[in-house]
Amino acid sequence: MALPGGAGIYYRKKDGKFVVESLLKPAGWSFKAIKWLEYLQKTQFKGHVIRHAMNGGEKSMRLAGTNFKPDGYCLIDGIHHFFFFHGCYYHSCDCKTSKNSPHSSKNADRDQLYRKICSENGRYIEIKECKFDSMKVRMTTNKVSCFFDKMVTKGMVQEDEIFQKIRSGQFYGFVSCDIHSPEEVVNRWKNFWGGPIFAHVTPTEDMLTPGMVAELEQRKVKITENQLSLVFNHESYIMTTELFLFYDKIGLKMSNLQWALEFTKDTPCRSFVEKMTDLRKKAERDGDGALVELYKLVINSSYGSFGLNVKKHLNHTYKRATSQCVKAEGPRIAGSNHLMGEFSTNWVEIISRKASVNDKTASKLFIIYLLFLIKNIYI
Ligand SMILES: [Zn+2]
Repeated sequence: MALPGGAGIYYRKKDGKFVVESLLKPAGWSFKAIKWLEYLQKTQFKGHVIRHAMNGGEKSMRLAGTNFKPDGYCLIDGIHHFFFFHGCYYHSCDCKTSKNSPHSSKNADRDQLYRKICSENGRYIEIKECKFDSMKVRMTTNKVSCFFDKMVTKGMVQEDEIFQKIRSGQFYGFVSCDIHSPEEVVNRWKNFWGGPIFAHVTPTEDMLTPGMVAELEQRKVKITENQLSLVFNHESYIMTTELFLFYDKIGLKMSNLQWALEFTKDTPCRSFVEKMTDLRKKAERDGDGALVELYKLVINSSYGSFGLNVKKHLNHTYKRATSQCVKAEGPRIAGSNHLMGEFSTNWVEIISRKASVNDKTASKLFIIYLLFLIKNIYI
């Protein structure tokens, strides 16, 4: 299953169009440097992955007692390759921009030190911004963004362009927009008990049959509570681009894009799952039943935890009846039971609710961040 990987690109609405921004603040690195590194990956360094800010983060190095982060890094045949993109305004260069800049000379000593350390420990590759500009490189395809050139020039894109890129399969990530079901979609779905869109709605009495209203009254169920339901129309709906494609296919109309997040389509869990599956197969061949169960449990629990609604799950812990925890009270404590057996026991079972992140947008972003970390650890 593909998941969002790498650093995201955020499309922020401004005057009816969308500004292309990175989710990472461009501190100490630039889109142009990324463009150069992506270009090198397609040409001179074909077949190699140059690690940079947008595909796993700049690599931290410590050599000759100095900590530094090259703009790009790649290990080829055991040799370190260090890539440095020098913007003329901040680094010394023979061009006018650099000569007129009050900042260009400040970094000269540091640049010289990195040049020396890197050359002594591997290969040092540097380019100056004006040189790169004169090459007039155009990037039509790359892994960072489907609007790469606009990202580099801080350009803006139209809503139509984003929708078009989603439909062509080039844009992968999340969007927030309005969804409308035309009449033919409503007619097709009306015999089903709801529309094609999962949403939380607050029902009102006029949405229900009189029989249902009476039954709810009898059972003392409040209908004003937020319910997960299936609807035909929704405003500001957050969805993955894959769900967008499904809704598009069945005839729903998407409009009024509020924002979009673009990610590299990735499989960050693959190496972990494959490793665990291989170990499980090996344990099976070796006839080690306990290990087979263990690996099965590890895979199933890691899969389940990603989609877990922690509010619905409880923790059970066992404490001595004399422990102070037994008397503890708090919003997360659901109850406790003194364990009984043939003989009286000294054990108490404490049931507590799991901690949860209530803010949905924050928890979604947290998952994306976790996936980004996992990708860095396992790949
Ligand atoms: Zn220059």
